[in-house]
Amino acid sequence: MASLPELPAVSTLSKYVTRNPGKFTLQGTNTYLIHHPASPSLLLLDTTGPSSFSPLSPSALQVYLSSLRSAIASHPTQPARITDIILTHWHRDHTAAVGDVVRMLDELEGSEKATVRVWKFPCATGEEGSLDAWESERMKDAELERDLEGLGQDEFERLGVNTALQTLRAGQRFSLSGGSGSSAVSPTENVVELEVVHTPGHTSDSICLLLREGNSFASSPSSPAAPLALFTADTVLGHGTAVFASLSAYLSSLSSLIDLLSVTSSAPVPLYPGHGEVVKDGLAKIREYKMHREDREKQVVEALKAVEGEEAVTASELTDSIYADTIPSSLKLAATHGLLLHLEKLREEGRVARVDQPGPEGLDLGAAGGGGEVQIPQGWFDGWKWVGRDEAVEGRL
Ligand SMILES: [Zn+2]
Repeated sequence: MASLPELPAVSTLSKYVTRNPGKFTLQGTNTYLIHHPASPSLLLLDTTGPSSFSPLSPSALQVYLSSLRSAIASHPTQPARITDIILTHWHRDHTAAVGDVVRMLDELEGSEKATVRVWKFPCATGEEGSLDAWESERMKDAELERDLEGLGQDEFERLGVNTALQTLRAGQRFSLSGGSGSSAVSPTENVVELEVVHTPGHTSDSICLLLREGNSFASSPSSPAAPLALFTADTVLGHGTAVFASLSAYLSSLSSLIDLLSVTSSAPVPLYPGHGEVVKDGLAKIREYKMHREDREKQVVEALKAVEGEEAVTASELTDSIYADTIPSSLKLAATHGLLLHLEKLREEGRVARVDQPGPEGLDLGAAGGGGEVQIPQGWFDGWKWVGRDEAVEGRL
């Protein structure tokens, strides 16, 4: 962690993108302003908040808000205003300050003041009582709504008394141009556009956003304008590897991002992640992430196949056989947790069976995934065994 490079407070990444990492969450949560020089409207991607390492201090919040204010004030087309705040997922380090940002925008003087919309893809709701990968996220949208509860119609565009968040859809587009607010965009006029790509995995509501320059009115749907960048939030990070709640969802999201960038681009498309520095060759990085997971899966499959007879092994035994002495014992819990996500994916595919085994006595497994202080992942004490794809498919018929 100590080796992570520190990012400057505000960086101009391109003609259309300004980054403002909060200084207080490790390297900070990157929040981005998307703008077009000729449009007075600005889009804000994510806000800031506490991290698991540090709370959001009032002074850090003020620094963040004042750099947003200066960015708005120095925009070439005035009076400039943030019209839309797009939240990439529910995690607090991206969303906690949203109410403060809305309040700050409301306090801006004169005609800069305008109603702002707050957008978010809904979290998966899941079945009541089910223990799916998204179980812990079921109430997150409601929590976010509570954060915005005190803010009324004057401050921002609210859908209803209890509904402040606008619902993002996959494929939805936000565009900025000199003719902002008008549909009569001339064929020669440049437009900058953000397109929503739903990429569950890190969380159920994670999105990426593709930034394009060009005139979508002029370009045909079969040959969209070349992407300038992909905002990846926490799905792909600038440093280290991402974490995820569901590996199967995560891998299929990586595949769709690979397809997206392979089809639409010849030059490397940079990634603008939720944490860390810009990744210059986005496609190469996403392929690397995917390959890393596939290699790990091969190791898990081989280790399970190597188990003699009908015996089932626990995730922790599997960690010992895969990692042996290659990682310090302090990292073993995290490694076991990672392997469990692989085992769960293989189970979903019918290639691995989980054999229920009681945990150590006195341990309340009911807390798993619930609100308990110590959360024990599902399947931690269970046995796992290879059943092979063919056998499992037959079993289901
Ligand atoms: Zn996150």
